Amino acid sequence: MSIIVQKFGGTSVATAEKIRNAASRAIAAKKAGHQVVVVVSARGKKTDELVDLATEITGTPSPREMDVLLSTGEQETIALMAMAIHTLGEKAVSLTGPQIGIMTDEASTKARIRQIKTGRIHDLLDAGNIIVAAGFQGHDQIGNITTLGRGGSDTTATALAAVLNASLCEIYTDVEGVFTTDPRIVAEARQVHQISYDEMLELASLGAGVMHSRSIEFAKKYRVPLRVRPSFNEGSGTLISLQPLDPTPVVTGVALVKNELRVSLYNVPDRPGVMSLIFEKMAARKIPIDLVVQDIAEGGTAEISFTVPKDDFAEAVTAAEEAVEILGQGKVRHGTQLAKVSIVGSGMQTHTGVAAQLFQTLASHGINVLMISTGDIKISVLIDADRALDAVKAIHNDFGLDKLEIPKPHVGESLKGVSVETHPLDEKREREVVLRLANMEDIVVSDVIVDTTQARVTIKNLVDKAGIAANLFSVVAEGGVMVDMIVQNVSQKGRTNITFTIPANDLEKCLKLVKNAVEMDGEVTLTHDAEIAKISVAGIGLRSHTGVGEKMFRTLSDHDINILLVGASEMRMTAVINKSQANAAEKALCEMFLGPEI
Ligand code: ADP
Ligand code: ASP
Ligand code: MG
Repeated sequence: MSIIVQKFGGTSVATAEKIRNAASRAIAAKKAGHQVVVVVSARGKKTDELVDLATEITGTPSPREMDVLLSTGEQETIALMAMAIHTLGEKAVSLTGPQIGIMTDEASTKARIRQIKTGRIHDLLDAGNIIVAAGFQGHDQIGNITTLGRGGSDTTATALAAVLNASLCEIYTDVEGVFTTDPRIVAEARQVHQISYDEMLELASLGAGVMHSRSIEFAKKYRVPLRVRPSFNEGSGTLISLQPLDPTPVVTGVALVKNELRVSLYNVPDRPGVMSLIFEKMAARKIPIDLVVQDIAEGGTAEISFTVPKDDFAEAVTAAEEAVEILGQGKVRHGTQLAKVSIVGSGMQTHTGVAAQLFQTLASHGINVLMISTGDIKISVLIDADRALDAVKAIHNDFGLDKLEIPKPHVGESLKGVSVETHPLDEKREREVVLRLANMEDIVVSDVIVDTTQARVTIKNLVDKAGIAANLFSVVAEGGVMVDMIVQNVSQKGRTNITFTIPANDLEKCLKLVKNAVEMDGEVTLTHDAEIAKISVAGIGLRSHTGVGEKMFRTLSDHDINILLVGASEMRMTAVINKSQANAAEKALCEMFLGPEI
């Protein structure tokens, strides 16, 4: 008999009536012939209330006690939901995370799932029960209750669907499905009926709060088809699977993190091991770092900036200061009141000029870009927080997302085993890696890719004003040069540096274009390097897994390989290095991540 997992978010179980409504959906699925596992969140704003209460007691609550506290929210809902199912005449049993046997690591408040026992669930399902499972929680090896991080019930649901080999995991929420951007911010946002795991993973980890990004990692790793659906009507919502929308739009969505903070390390020595040290310090605290930008060094020193989530800020600054102390040179500075806006789309891989269009949109609204970082299917920019909403609206409009042609879902679509022809080799490797995982949320790196066809172009000391990136990249795109990575670090004394990579064959042409595009006043310098290699590790959830960057940069540093540029996305972690070291880097990274078997 097929198993369906249904997850109900906070607003969908906020009141007795809503709980009854959710209970009826579970019963309907059972009556349709499925075994049903329901995963629930805490009711309404319960988790926020508990957090506030803890803050009234102490500014520095113990993470262990936070988990004991927050897990009560979900425990309340499971009991109420089981009772509601009983009153509607069906059998149901509620189970907390520890009762199910969701075993996690020890990282209180951000625990990762190691294993899930399925014996008790199968027994109860076979006895005709609907299981009502508490989302967001598990227990560590010695029995402490742990939680998976805010929004973690999505991850519980998807992980259960994975271990139970469910035919579908439905995420019931308070919107019609996944939209081109948060419909509460942009009224014109359109629902997408279908989106790929990769796009959804990037969107979620770049701020689209509709799904917990780790749940998409599970879904992709274990090929769980997910459907985000409204709990308030019968809408069919959005299918998240291997396939993107067809035809694939260049940009599928815009994501926003309103409260981003920047940490910069200035004047640090430019030598192998610096990036590794920073990643190691952050990984030790499980702080995901994003928008990592290392400026091409000058006079033996480097500047590295990255952004971190608001809650991790104090720890991140402490960690950065520790790093500077070990390096024996440098200064830590930080910036607040910043926002990160990102565009995501599978179609970006095959289209030129997307970055140029993004920068033009921002420039035409007078929004200055403070930092830029790109990935395969995403571009992120850091801007002033007070312009964040303007930026999202403008981008959404300029990329025509309000008019996105949305194909209707296919009638009777097959949910399991969706076949997609893309990257069959990567797929096979990825499957092998997933099958070998000791713990469900362990890092999945399935490939190491070297690209020696690119060249680097760096423009230093550009006068920092709205429109410089727009102008530069428009000219380059119009000249027919396909830009790959772009990084821009924060400006100092009103001047900024932009580095990008392009096909080495286009270097001469590109340099001419750049000279025409930027005003080469006395201070501006233009440098290039065709002797570079781009080396990437590819896999699933690489930016959120703080250990990937740490391992990658440590491996490179152990082999005395200096890093010139860094790019991070959930699909790839990339470093630009000297071409002469490409073979050594590839060998070392293959040994580190892929082991001897592959
Ligand atoms: P739940 O409690 O059901 O888990 P969440 O509040 O976590 O619900 O997620 C749903 C919310 O996500 C929506 O109310 C919406 O404001 C927000 N959201 C952000 N980005 C998007 C997007 N791209 N598509 C749909 N909703 C989004
Ligand atoms: N109740 C938890 C939270 O509010 C988990 C969840 O709802 O997914 O973050
Ligand atoms: Mg949620």
